[in-house]
Amino acid sequence: MDKTMHKMEIAGDTSLEQAFQTYCLLNEEVRRWQDERGSFGMEELSPAKTPPYYPFVDFPEIVVLELWKRLNQVIGLIVSEAALRETWKRFKNGQSLSEPELSSNLQISLTGIAHLLRARFMKTKMDAENNQGQVHPEKTAYESDACPICGEHATLSILARSNGQRFIHCTLCGHEWPTARVGCIHCGSEEATEQSYLQSEEFPGIELVVCEACGQYFKELDLRTLAVADFIWEDVRTLPLNYAAEQWLADHAKQSGNIQ
Ligand SMILES: [Zn+2]
Ligand SMILES: [Zn+2]
Repeated sequence: MDKTMHKMEIAGDTSLEQAFQTYCLLNEEVRRWQDERGSFGMEELSPAKTPPYYPFVDFPEIVVLELWKRLNQVIGLIVSEAALRETWKRFKNGQSLSEPELSSNLQISLTGIAHLLRARFMKTKMDAENNQGQVHPEKTAYESDACPICGEHATLSILARSNGQRFIHCTLCGHEWPTARVGCIHCGSEEATEQSYLQSEEFPGIELVVCEACGQYFKELDLRTLAVADFIWEDVRTLPLNYAAEQWLADHAKQSGNIQ
């Protein structure tokens, strides 16, 4: 872990700046694709009866491959359709991908598709509620750290700019839903002694919440003090905090003798 953190430091601002430029180019391509394609190819995809309504593993392969290929072209990455199909299958089976650019382009493609599906879901929901003459705010009945729309497991919580209310923000589809003001968003533990809050002067307005009850962590962004234009980039930009949390968990596990 030390090694990884060291590498991040050496990489410095230049490569982060370059990564950001590429990220912006890829996102422009996603927006172009969204404008051109709308929900074409996804009409037959109907929401599940219970959450998650549009799990990413059910995204139509033809749509995933189309956007993915376009993003690969943006960065001059040439991969055959057969190889993409094979990689998509591996990814859906939960296998990690060894090709970082291909993998990151796939993530961005899934994000682009998930945002479209979320928009469609919310519109249908709002239309239905308007027809009934009432609009209900989102209920919190869905008790899980997985996004009710796409099923992605949460990694970010935010404190709302207006009143500090806490929401979970899904980095795949952009959906936000309210959650308990304190405690772990993963396991629901509200025992204060079980969560540690790690901060870094380098990243004001962000806390890394590490939970000993479940051994997981998440980032909390306080939007009352921090302006965030893009949550995914914010998550990437602050990756050193993730490494610190993993280090913290490893050290802590060693101390309590849980890990060999
Ligand atoms: Zn989601
Ligand atoms: Zn927990």
